[in-house]
Amino acid sequence: MPGIGDPYGILKGRSMSSALLIVDVQNDFCPGGALPVPEGDRVIPVLNRYIELFRSQRAPIFASRDWHPSQTSHFKQKGGDWPPHCVAKTAGAQFHPELALPEETIVLSKGTDPGSDGYTAFQGHDSRGRTFEEVLRSRGINILYIGGLATDYCVKFTGLDALKKGFRVILLEDATRGIDEDAVKETIRLIQEKNGQLASFEEVSRKAGGRS
Ligand SMILES: [Zn+2]
Repeated sequence: MPGIGDPYGILKGRSMSSALLIVDVQNDFCPGGALPVPEGDRVIPVLNRYIELFRSQRAPIFASRDWHPSQTSHFKQKGGDWPPHCVAKTAGAQFHPELALPEETIVLSKGTDPGSDGYTAFQGHDSRGRTFEEVLRSRGINILYIGGLATDYCVKFTGLDALKKGFRVILLEDATRGIDEDAVKETIRLIQEKNGQLASFEEVSRKAGGRS
């Protein structure tokens, strides 16, 4: 891609600089959940292929999750936009059971502050309380491949934050679903405008050495 260089950092032995980020593939965001994204579960088989690919390249895998308190300004009852969802430790907050997250996945919990929406994974913390950015910097990761739910909310805010912080962003367009079609288009436009890129599994796997 002109001006940006090879978009796929998992190529050419640069695996240490790339990571996969799976945003909020939780029961409540899938059909049958409290706040379902239409066809949200369709991302799961695709993400499982990305997970295998990134594991094969020894690239780290992150999974963010909404992890809300039961009372938060994010929910309608306290003036927010949303019905209650992904309350910490409930079944709705669990990752979807078909998402094949490996043991070494770094889980980022976000939306834990009762005064904040927590749309971006950059507000998330790992199990040791480190911010997402701290973990990325400590591992020298500078390229993020992002998929998950929902394109027009948490994926959007996470991707734009990553770009603002100087990370390269590759939005995995076949591994994300949104709520509103126009908002999804606008998200893609914004990410591309800030030099983020789009890719599909076929492209990423071909460039990573033909694995699929
Ligand atoms: Zn939420």
